[in-house]
Amino acid sequence: MRIYSSQTHSKTDFKPIDSGRVRMYVCGPTVYDNIHIGNARTFISFDVIRRWLIASGYEVSFAQNLTDVDDKIINRANEQGRTSEAVAEEFSQRFIEVMRAVNVLDPDIRPRATKEIGPMIGMIKSLIEQGHAYAAENGDVYFSVRSDERYGEVSGRKIDDLMVGARIEENEDKRDPLDFALWKAAKPGEPSWPSPWGAGRPGWHTECAAMVHRYLGVPIDIHGGGSDLAFPHHENECAQAHCAWHAGFANIWMHTGMLLVDGEKMSKSLGNFYTLAEVLEKHSGAALRLLMAQTHYRSPLDFSWERLAGAENSLARVATSVENLRWAAHKAQDDSTFIEHSSLADGDATGACDVLSTTSEAASELQRACECACADFESHMNDDFNTAGAVAALFSLVNAANSYLETARFFDASLCEQAADILLDRFATLGIEVSVREEELPHELVGLAKRLLGFAGTDIDAAATALLKARSEARADKDWSRADAIRNELAGVGVVVEDTATGSRLKRA
Ligand code: AMP
Ligand code: ZN
Repeated sequence: MRIYSSQTHSKTDFKPIDSGRVRMYVCGPTVYDNIHIGNARTFISFDVIRRWLIASGYEVSFAQNLTDVDDKIINRANEQGRTSEAVAEEFSQRFIEVMRAVNVLDPDIRPRATKEIGPMIGMIKSLIEQGHAYAAENGDVYFSVRSDERYGEVSGRKIDDLMVGARIEENEDKRDPLDFALWKAAKPGEPSWPSPWGAGRPGWHTECAAMVHRYLGVPIDIHGGGSDLAFPHHENECAQAHCAWHAGFANIWMHTGMLLVDGEKMSKSLGNFYTLAEVLEKHSGAALRLLMAQTHYRSPLDFSWERLAGAENSLARVATSVENLRWAAHKAQDDSTFIEHSSLADGDATGACDVLSTTSEAASELQRACECACADFESHMNDDFNTAGAVAALFSLVNAANSYLETARFFDASLCEQAADILLDRFATLGIEVSVREEELPHELVGLAKRLLGFAGTDIDAAATALLKARSEARADKDWSRADAIRNELAGVGVVVEDTATGSRLKRA
């Protein structure tokens, strides 16, 4: 498996630090509002990455924080006349619910900033003792950026360029404008905790470094987030960890591309966002995940409702194909005596040979398509989680399955089941649950078959077969009124007859 590191700008063979186990951390949301589908893109991308690592046999320890103390939460609480705890609790719960609704697996560890104050204070103390941080007069504590020789490594920036290019606030309590806050002195009305530097609260960058260290141990294998977090957030997390523990921080930095609307990054501040919850009212989570999987996680993704509707249609194509494959498998079992009874086998030997050779050619093609889809899916996923290639491989199998269903004159049940299982299984590996209608026919068919045909059994499928057979015999005898009567009786129990190229079947109306 090869993974692209945004720090080295290259793909390398993945070797976890502890063989067989992957330790992975992805920065979570600041819980002051509902998340939008841009945020969701990042979380869904890492869910797919985690799922593929698990599917590849790794034991994955996945941690993700909730930033539940922050200026944005405090502002929202003040606007609404609520406590920041209440705001953070509400949006933490909503985040958890909406992530589950879109089939993102819960993290193994979900630390909250407000519950990790002790470890953060411990880290800050150690940074001060080692000369990498200082307490200012006003009770803030700052990290001294120039004390870290490796600063800039994660995001590929040079300290001196930062002075020129970046928008850095002047602040007279800082010794250097580049320094960032590890601890912020309490302001009236804000949540705060006691510390050696007076009451205050932790800075944002501090929580992730302390949590990674506490819950996963440093260095970890994979640290991730959206590409907008590479600087300053990840750079600052990394600087603290390097200077506090001298053990390395993350072997691979992974950053997702931004979700865009009309070419611009979706963000709360631009107001060009759709919340995940509102999108899920209109579309399935599976369609949204498919839309996302169709673009590589590092590339920007242009969102539009048309594209989402397109993904919904594509997903419906997969579901129909799986339903048809399952129906064909079922029919194949009913038809197992087809060859012996077929008039072709009895009489017209050349015709029988044609049917057999078309069918066996179609079967070998589908068999090959199954093998290719599995191999391609795996090799794309192993190439830096190329979900776009992996999804394309599955759609080739959908096409191959559809042409098999059209071409073959009788079906190979296990081949049909194999193709259907590959599709469902591989989409599920991407977190996309294809919802296939289970064609359970109503029990009333048994009574109907008894009444019309004197059918003696109790099995619904056998009753359905008997009714279909009676209808096709009536048609063959040009007894249209009997054929219509059977069709009408079926409609009376909510069942329709569907005539397809390969035969007739009963479906719920
Ligand atoms: P925040 O709560 O702002 O820290 O964002 C949570 C996560 O969403 C971070 O990993 C961000 O990088 C990511 N994110 C924010 N906006 C977008 C976007 N438009 N596209 C993709 N990821 C985003
Ligand atoms: Zn973080």
